Amino acid sequence: MSDCIFCKITAKQIPSTVIYEDDDVLAFKDIHPAAPVHFLIVPKQHVATLADCTDAHAAVLGKMMLLAPKLAAEQGCGYVNDSATGTKGGFKTVFNTGPDGGQEVYHLHLHVLGGPQPWRGQR
Ligand code: C5P
Repeated sequence: MSDCIFCKITAKQIPSTVIYEDDDVLAFKDIHPAAPVHFLIVPKQHVATLADCTDAHAAVLGKMMLLAPKLAAEQGCGYVNDSATGTKGGFKTVFNTGPDGGQEVYHLHLHVLGGPQPWRGQR
C-alpha cells in the first residue's frame, strides 16, 4: 500500500535499523523502544491486522513466531532454561489489533520486547 509506513520501510523507502530480512519478512528495531530490547517483525506483503489474516497467511505468521525467539536470542534477550542454573532471560511477544488493542500502524507487526526488568506492561 502506497501510504503504509511499514510498506515503505520494507521497500527501504524509509530507513530503519534492520536486524533480519528474507523474502517474506523484515525485522527492525522499534524507533520508540518500550523495553531494553524492542523490535518488530513484519511481513513484506501488506496485511492490515491479525484479524485480517486468512489461511493464506499461516506460513508467514508461523515464520514470524518462530523468528521471535531466534532474533530475541541474537539481540541479547533469549529465554534460557538450563537444568543447572534454572530459567533466565525471556521476552514478550505482542500483536496489537485494532483501536482497542492499541494498534497505531495498520500493517501487521509482531512486537518482541525483552531485557532486564522492570519494563513489563509498557506496550
Ligand atoms: O502496535 P502499534 O501499531 O501500536 O505499534 C507501532 C510501532 O511501530 C510503535 O511501537 C512505533 O514506535 C513503531 N514504529 C517504528 N518505526 C516507524 C513508525 C512506527 O518503529 N517509522
